[in-house]
Amino acid sequence: MLSHTRSQRDRLAAGFDRPKVKRLMRRLPGWRGVLALNYHRIGDHTASPWDHSLWSASAELFDLQLAVLAAEAEVIAPGDIGAALQDGKPGRRVLITFDDGYRDNFEIAYPLLRKHGLTATFFLATGFIDRPRVAWWDELAWMVRGSRAQALEAGEWLPRTMALDAAGADATIATLTAHYKTLPNERTEAFLDHVAVATGSGRCDPDEAAEMWITWEMARELRRGGMTIGGHTVTHPVLARIPAARQEEEIEGCAGRIEQELGEPMRWFAYPVGARDTFTADTRQILTRGGVQLAFSFYGGHARFSRWDPLDVPRTHVGPELSPEILQGMVWLPGLLAR
Ligand SMILES: [Zn+2]
Repeated sequence: MLSHTRSQRDRLAAGFDRPKVKRLMRRLPGWRGVLALNYHRIGDHTASPWDHSLWSASAELFDLQLAVLAAEAEVIAPGDIGAALQDGKPGRRVLITFDDGYRDNFEIAYPLLRKHGLTATFFLATGFIDRPRVAWWDELAWMVRGSRAQALEAGEWLPRTMALDAAGADATIATLTAHYKTLPNERTEAFLDHVAVATGSGRCDPDEAAEMWITWEMARELRRGGMTIGGHTVTHPVLARIPAARQEEEIEGCAGRIEQELGEPMRWFAYPVGARDTFTADTRQILTRGGVQLAFSFYGGHARFSRWDPLDVPRTHVGPELSPEILQGMVWLPGLLAR
């Protein structure tokens, strides 16, 4: 089903590349809304023990995507959305967003954004910066890959190596990650402990995360360079799975650290994981009380002014399959192509 949809998108995108179609598309007035793109990591993941599904694009692909956005879109910041809503005119407004605060955002993505003169928003989980540690999804990947390496080294080929060839490892990681997201928060650590034993890998040393996340100094440099910083909680829990009092700690703790370090209030927020069932009415209330103006979800589609909800601005996933041609099509016709 997915591959069918993808190939349909590819065929459409190939059509968009014809000069005649391009001229026609550029004459269209645009649409009323914002296409918010969601990235996580940029670069080359091939040798990495971490969760490969977090890599949104290679540096080369990101560079090409930015060239398309610079030419075809109006890339805006969250602070520009209020005026756009008021004026209500159609356009091709795009928001570039990054979640989690991986160091490659600063080292690879930021220089490319500067090269193209574009702005982006970085949603930070402040606990990762303050006490660097490996995120649970990366730890699951590390444990599964470690298990495979151990088994290969020991000359074992049954059953662990069979279940965990390279593609099998990615599939296992995806299954474990999906399961983790369904767990009540108080059971998540026990689950990680269980996988640590089952894989024989043990738990990941926090030192592994020493250079994984951006630092506050890097966040300040991003601000000076015209980027926007938003919040993404302290420890990245699925907010809907924890009681309101803990949600408050996660949101207010994050806002407090951003204010201390950057000297500005947290006005923009992205829900961890971001599916429709990952935030609640309590979450909305806490955000509103804290002065957050826009909160971003992550289940696809673009945000239409006609059904605008400032605390549920949908974003579209960016993965390595997003060719510059498809992105160009998405900017022209997000209702058709942004899923
Ligand atoms: Zn996240």
